Amino acid sequence: MKILVINCGSSSLKYQLLDMDTHHPLAKGLVERIGMAGSVLTHRTAAGAAAVAKKVIEADIPDHKVGISLVLEALVHPEYGVIKGLEDISAVGHRVVHGGEKFSHSVIVDEEVLQGLRECIELAPLHNPPNIAGIEACRKLMPGVPQIAVFDTAFHQTMPPYAYLYGLPYELYEKYKIRKYGFHGTSHKYVSQRAAILLCKPLAELKLISCHLGNGASIAAIKGGKSIETSMGFTPLEGLMMGTRSGDLDPAIVAFIMEKENLSSDEVNDFLNKKCGVLGVSGVSSDFRDIEEAALKGNYRAQLALQIFAHDVKKYIGAYAAVLNGVDAIIFTAGLGENSGSMRADICANLDAFGIELDLEKNKIRGEEVDISVPDAACRVLVIPTNEELMIASDTEALVSKTFP
Ligand code: AMP
Repeated sequence: MKILVINCGSSSLKYQLLDMDTHHPLAKGLVERIGMAGSVLTHRTAAGAAAVAKKVIEADIPDHKVGISLVLEALVHPEYGVIKGLEDISAVGHRVVHGGEKFSHSVIVDEEVLQGLRECIELAPLHNPPNIAGIEACRKLMPGVPQIAVFDTAFHQTMPPYAYLYGLPYELYEKYKIRKYGFHGTSHKYVSQRAAILLCKPLAELKLISCHLGNGASIAAIKGGKSIETSMGFTPLEGLMMGTRSGDLDPAIVAFIMEKENLSSDEVNDFLNKKCGVLGVSGVSSDFRDIEEAALKGNYRAQLALQIFAHDVKKYIGAYAAVLNGVDAIIFTAGLGENSGSMRADICANLDAFGIELDLEKNKIRGEEVDISVPDAACRVLVIPTNEELMIASDTEALVSKTFP
């Protein structure tokens, strides 16, 4: 079965066509600058899958529908295409950021689901509209091909109310659905499943802490394969300090900044999402590679940003070890988690009371599935490269096979 995975952002669109027999992508690519001047599609094929390995197509791409029609043309193109016709695509899996409380699993899209997605727009006003645009475009361009919505929030819908409710009047939850939702669910789900395979133990018996540390960062406590706590909240702003997001703050600081800096609610929201985090602390960059380089050269604020980040992650690991009543394994994933041995070492330093001890040689690896703890450590520490596209495709395949056997 071949599954197309689509991830629509406001002005960009990422895609992968996966062969589910091998779990490998046949082609992948990116449409950039949708609705702007200079829009471009960069299409890449797997080794040997087509005569041309990389094709850059410059075209006027005013909206997501035109972007997706160009992607479909590229996939069937005689030179750089990888399939004969669109009928080779069995289903399309769409990444959808917010499913609210309505969607606790991936679903096949119909009119009712589309209405449900529209109702979630107020929870994710920047992310859900392009996700919906992508789904609507595919429904028009590929009639009859099942479209599946896979949600970033769905995996965390297993959190109990005492974990997802804030210390606010309960009426605000009832009126506005203000609660913790959590994000990066597809990634946390994927790495937890891989961890069970790596540890040769049933997922149902495992207590895991999954650390998705990328430009956006979140941690999840996963018991028996179910998320019971996570660090992102009502929006992705809560939790760890991130590339440009502040993470947890005393909420009184928000009103204080608004008054002192004369900011509107939109402006303060923008500020907390785009100008804070390691960028704001270091003054160097939001990219951890730049910050690590500056820190090595003695830049105090870069060093401080890395220390705060490692301290934040450590605090969450401690908290989630308590929530889980023990931990079998800690998982590091996403750009920083997969690649930065020094960050992993800083986070895991002085956690021997939790049975955590790294093998410093193994910790040098990058982007590979490896157990990096010493042989007799009670709590394993795993590096597992995330693969959200494969998780979306697997959910899509499972749903399509069940519904249309
Ligand atoms: P992601 O959002 O998962 O793509 O992760 C992006 C983040 O991972 C950026 O801040 C990168 O600087 C960071 N990252 C990627 N590779 C490395 C590396 N080799 N060392 C440190 N950080 C890295």
